[in-house]
Amino acid sequence: VNLLPNFIHNAIDDDLKNGKYADGIHTRFPPEPNGYLHIGHAKSICINFGTAQKYNGQCNLRFDDTNPTKEDVEYVDSIQEDVKWLGFTWDDRMFYASDYFDKLYDFAVELIKRGKAYVCDLTADEIRQYRGTLTEAGTESPYRGRSIEENIDLFERMKKGDFADGQKVLRAKIDMASPNITMRDPVIYRISHTRHHRTGDKWCIYPMYDFAHPLSDAIEKVTHSICTLEFEEHRPLYDWLLENLGFDSNSRPRQIEFARLNLTNMVMSKRKLRQLVESGCVSGWDDPRMPTISGFRRRGYTAESIRSFCELIGVAKSNSLVDIAMLEHCVREDLNKRADRIMAVLNPIKVIITNYPEGKCEYLSAENKPDSSAARYVPFSREIYIERSDFMESAPKKFFRLKPDGEVRLKYAYIIKCTDIVKDADGNIIQINCTYDPDSKRGGSTAGRKVKGTLHWVPLDGCLNAEVRLYDYLLNNDENAEQTDFMKELNPASLTVLQNCKIEPAAAWAAPGTKYQFLRQGYFCVDKDSAKGNLVFNRVVGLRDSWAK
Ligand code: ATP
Ligand code: MG
Ligand code: MG
Repeated sequence: VNLLPNFIHNAIDDDLKNGKYADGIHTRFPPEPNGYLHIGHAKSICINFGTAQKYNGQCNLRFDDTNPTKEDVEYVDSIQEDVKWLGFTWDDRMFYASDYFDKLYDFAVELIKRGKAYVCDLTADEIRQYRGTLTEAGTESPYRGRSIEENIDLFERMKKGDFADGQKVLRAKIDMASPNITMRDPVIYRISHTRHHRTGDKWCIYPMYDFAHPLSDAIEKVTHSICTLEFEEHRPLYDWLLENLGFDSNSRPRQIEFARLNLTNMVMSKRKLRQLVESGCVSGWDDPRMPTISGFRRRGYTAESIRSFCELIGVAKSNSLVDIAMLEHCVREDLNKRADRIMAVLNPIKVIITNYPEGKCEYLSAENKPDSSAARYVPFSREIYIERSDFMESAPKKFFRLKPDGEVRLKYAYIIKCTDIVKDADGNIIQINCTYDPDSKRGGSTAGRKVKGTLHWVPLDGCLNAEVRLYDYLLNNDENAEQTDFMKELNPASLTVLQNCKIEPAAAWAAPGTKYQFLRQGYFCVDKDSAKGNLVFNRVVGLRDSWAK
């Protein structure tokens, strides 16, 4: 990725100028394995890996797995797959915060020995009450004065399993009157008799994020710990821990915050995405309507398009809402370059070209994607399908598609004229009869004849049947969806399944993941549910770009 110049890089440049971090720049991407990655994580991945690339440094992949109740190996696997797919590598620098549980425990003991941490018996509720408010200083815990010896003994017994969940915690001893509530003796270890997906039953105490994160960064010799804005208030604690555990200020990691990505018509928090999955509103984490990386991949987004989106949105320090049209613009630009063109009729009606010889079939050459020399050949014969919406029986004057007595050009083929229509007993049109102008094909004597409309079509003989899934946004556009009850904003029409679509024969062997431009319709991708003879396509995005620069 090529990130635009931004305040994070300015800060790094300053650090380097001031002689800090002489051993090079080192970042990390630290997902908690409690769900699948989403497009917001893609932004963080691009910033962390992109920054390391820019400074010829390194970026670690670190699983922040300190909360065993919500974590699972399924997520560990999907996260690796998604980061790789986005185009980033970590070589041998994949770590787990749980690998540091012993070291983190030792750091906690060291804090106790330095008189900077104590075991507290207050309940979670009491701790909250004692903490005070923005306008009111907190109250010191009655356990704050415990001796170092007693604290060491109690902490060891916490580790051994002598106490029940919630009975005791370890707290940093900082300042109950601090204007920053995070600094009012934060909890740094809690008891949780829960099996961990990697350490099993070895531990029944687990470090809190605010304790584990700076120390994991320091252990890995990370220089710049880039995170989202909601951690700004935690930065003094980050620094306090490193300072009080004796890490040198010229080399210890530094936290820098940026604005998280929010997208219109989407929610992004994993908790909400999980709710969508568990309630059955979507088919899974990789449902093509989901803002997950696996959802976008299945839908037909390319890694390049997501990376160029991350470059385009830039890195800023104030929160904002990005129009999803911008992401669609990026995938459209990318697929325009890489997707083969084919014709597909989503809602077919049969057309018979009555003066075209029966049994004849010719192969018409058709253009492929821009700059591609590989042409394809589309079989043309007497019976074809066109889009039902491309015909109108009583059409207004400005309707330039097919109508009684009207003429249109069939893409790559001839000009046809509608002579009559056939209806069933209920009055539905079931067939359109036309004649064709045999000289109007490319190279023919009337090829230059102007008609207003050009239609896509597929030959009846040899075309493929397909299911096509059309997607709309999962959520109605509500700027506050992250705050309000987003389940009320669900768009009931986010999925439309068309069962009887007809596709040009060229797509017969297309494997899942293959992308096409269906002429006049948009970009489509073969779904993982697809099989030969049973094709399934996802609409990635329509052709019309609604993103205003
Ligand atoms: P969520 O609230 O969705 O669960 P999280 O921040 O708890 O997100 P983590 O797995 O801890 O999820 O995130 C890993 C990294 O990705 C963190 O550094 C986090 O700041 C960053 N990140 C998460 N969501 C976004 C977002 N919407 N935009 C940018 N970065 C994000
Ligand atoms: Mg997190
Ligand atoms: Mg979270």
